[in-house]
Amino acid sequence: MNMLALRSGDDIIVIDAGLMFPEQELLGVDVVIPDITYLKQNRHMVRAIVLTHGHEDHIGAIPYILGDLNVPVYGTQFTLALVRRRLEERGLLEAAKLHEVTPGQIIRIEPFQIEFLHVTHSTIDCVALAIRTPVGVIIHTGDFKIDPTPVDGKPFDLHAFARYGQEGVLALFSDSTNVERPGFTPSERAVVVRLEELFRAAPQKVLVSCFSSSIHRIQQVIDIAGIVGRKVGIVGRSMVTNVEIAHGLGKLRIPDGMIVRPQDIRSFDAKRLVVLASGTQAEPMSSLSRIAVDNHRLLSIGHNDTVILSARIIPGNEKAIFRMIDHLFRREVLVYYEGGRAAPIHVSGHASQEEMKILLQLVKPKYFVPVHGEYRQLFRHAAVAEQVGAVSEQIFLVESGQPIEFTADGRAFRREPVPAGRIMVDSGSLEEIEDVVIRDRRHLAEDGVVVPIIAIDKHTGRMETGPEIVTRGFLSDDGNEILARARDVILRTVEQSSTEEKTDWSVIKEKIRVDLKRYLNKQTSKRPLILPVILEV
Ligand SMILES: [Zn+2]
Ligand SMILES: [Zn+2]
Repeated sequence: MNMLALRSGDDIIVIDAGLMFPEQELLGVDVVIPDITYLKQNRHMVRAIVLTHGHEDHIGAIPYILGDLNVPVYGTQFTLALVRRRLEERGLLEAAKLHEVTPGQIIRIEPFQIEFLHVTHSTIDCVALAIRTPVGVIIHTGDFKIDPTPVDGKPFDLHAFARYGQEGVLALFSDSTNVERPGFTPSERAVVVRLEELFRAAPQKVLVSCFSSSIHRIQQVIDIAGIVGRKVGIVGRSMVTNVEIAHGLGKLRIPDGMIVRPQDIRSFDAKRLVVLASGTQAEPMSSLSRIAVDNHRLLSIGHNDTVILSARIIPGNEKAIFRMIDHLFRREVLVYYEGGRAAPIHVSGHASQEEMKILLQLVKPKYFVPVHGEYRQLFRHAAVAEQVGAVSEQIFLVESGQPIEFTADGRAFRREPVPAGRIMVDSGSLEEIEDVVIRDRRHLAEDGVVVPIIAIDKHTGRMETGPEIVTRGFLSDDGNEILARARDVILRTVEQSSTEEKTDWSVIKEKIRVDLKRYLNKQTSKRPLILPVILEV
């Protein structure tokens, strides 16, 4: 969930507004977005959000933020097309102020002047930002790798970076994702050889799964399909949408008659078919997950079909992905995924160490701030910069919320942290989920739920029957004795309460909850969620 604010005097521009998909321990949370308290506190100063590219970790929070802070958004054509789609889904498009920019263009958002520099990455229309501020030039790389042979023929604009390096750059903020990889990241084109080999060798239909934003990869699949005499079917909502958008903008070349209509995929000659599907991370409702268990409307897959997972296995998703791959093997599918010794079927979109060094050498910044990575990656990126020796003044290792102030006389200081962090959202309602909800869900998952039920006469405060206790996921059968004594605890709590307390249900519920919690925690060292229920009699 990338986001960086640049402030000069009373003017703020925001670079990127991404979301994050939650880790497993955030139960039932759909998405996580950045805490924008700082921006809200200074809302009259926020002039614009400037986007580097269209990946979710850079644009995903826009629909959640614009509702509250409707500032102009700047981005390239494809990036804005993706943003537009998301705003449309939420009915926010009408009010949004979107401004399209092209690589090489310079815009002014006083007192800043921003040049968009074309960079290569795993999706299209990606830019770095060179921002002229009153105290010097700041360069933010966005996500990048230096691909010398990009699929769309649009090269990384090394010249522009060099030009700014010559002029003098105050600070460089650079992508740290792949700092643990030595050497160079292979070009997107590196996957062609292996994909073509697999397409040719495939005895039946071929299914390629990749990220729906990987327009380069999609282009290559379409091109290779053409070469080997196969046609292409497209399944999965995000895949269909992104292909439509990219094709509509002329950023995806699809020969006439190349696409197989969805309703024709099932009956199409398997030996002449390639299917592009989303769902590389085995997301539960994704096309590939459903295909793997033969539960997809448009196609079935089986003996001697080929499935190619052309994507990284994102850490945390391994279990789900390998379970899906197992299903495919059970159906006697030929499955290919990352990790083999053969030529790659996937390459990363982020720079490895040598590319980071080239960028540092070109830009020669006074100050360097590694961004986009876990702390260890920022740390190692700092070490790489140290080794290159291209940073003349200082390297700043900072965490979210830590401001750096650059002064007019060319110095830089850490300042007091500002509010930063994560906000958890249920995507359906767009509502923020508070920490307490997450804590309840965690208790539910780990220690179950205990529901004490008592019947109280509303007028007399008398307990009509003995308390019942229903539990789920808390104790097995041999917990009967504990529950019997838990009932005594409730009885005692009620007996020791005044009539006034007993007839005020929020009070008596809380007393029961507290006493029961203390007792159960002592007996079992568990902390189940306790939900007292009072029946009125
Ligand atoms: Zn990216
Ligand atoms: Zn990113």
